[in-house]
Amino acid sequence: MAYQLIQTNMTATDNIQCPHCKHAVIDWTEEQYVQPCDHVLFIAMDLGFEYISDEFEHSMSRSVDEIHAHDDQLNMFEELTNTNYPNYVIYQSDLGAQNLSRYVGFVQA
Ligand SMILES: [Zn+2]
Repeated sequence: MAYQLIQTNMTATDNIQCPHCKHAVIDWTEEQYVQPCDHVLFIAMDLGFEYISDEFEHSMSRSVDEIHAHDDQLNMFEELTNTNYPNYVIYQSDLGAQNLSRYVGFVQA
């Protein structure tokens, strides 16, 4: 298995910090709250992508455009784990509604 899943206790309104450089990659004090650092591979919700690095997109079996074109049948977690990216960590947090989650992917240290 190329990825490690970490279920966090964070809520939808908590900032999310990079485990490597401590940068707030989700920062609710910023108008543009998605603030990825170099360690972020993707930031996504079950509903769609908020950010993805080129490198990670190339490792996925489908492109983001393809995924969004069929988002009525989207299984985001499956898309994010159906890749040939070698080693990464997924932080999953609960959005607090309709069993939706946010997923933030980081490179492994
Ligand atoms: Zn970082």
